[in-house]
Amino acid sequence: MDCLFCRIVAGEIPAARVFENDRVVAFDDIAPIAPMHVLVVPRTHIATLNDVTPDHDALIGEMLRAAATIAAERGYAERGFRTVFNCQAGAGQSVFHIHLHVIGGRPLAWPPG
Ligand code: AMP
Repeated sequence: MDCLFCRIVAGEIPAARVFENDRVVAFDDIAPIAPMHVLVVPRTHIATLNDVTPDHDALIGEMLRAAATIAAERGYAERGFRTVFNCQAGAGQSVFHIHLHVIGGRPLAWPPG
C-alpha cells in the first residue's frame, strides 16, 4: 500500500485521530496552517474529487457532516471555519487520497491564494 492516507487509516502510520467511524477517519494535519486544521478522509481510497461517483454521495456528505461536528466540538460553529478539497496538483493537492481540510481559529481571507 503506497498511499499515505490509506496507511494512516490502517494504523500503519500514526496520526492524532479526532474522529472515526466505519466510513471516515479524521486526524490533525501534521503541518497545521491554523489553530484548527483537521483532515477528514474516507477509509476507501479515492484519488481525487474527479474520481467521486454517485455511489460516493453519502460518503461525501458524511465527510462534510464530520467536519461540521468536529468544528462545533472545538467551538467554531458560530465563529466560523472553512472546508476545502484541493483537487489536482494545480490546486494544491499533494496527497492523492481525497481529504477535506477543516480549518479555523484565525481570520481566513477570501479569495484564497
Ligand atoms: P493537500 O496539499 O490538499 O493534498 O493536503 C495534504 C495535507 O496532508 C497537507 O496539509 C499536509 O500537511 C498533510 N499531511 C501530510 N502528511 C501527513 C501526515 N503524515 N499526517 C497528517 N497530515 C499530513
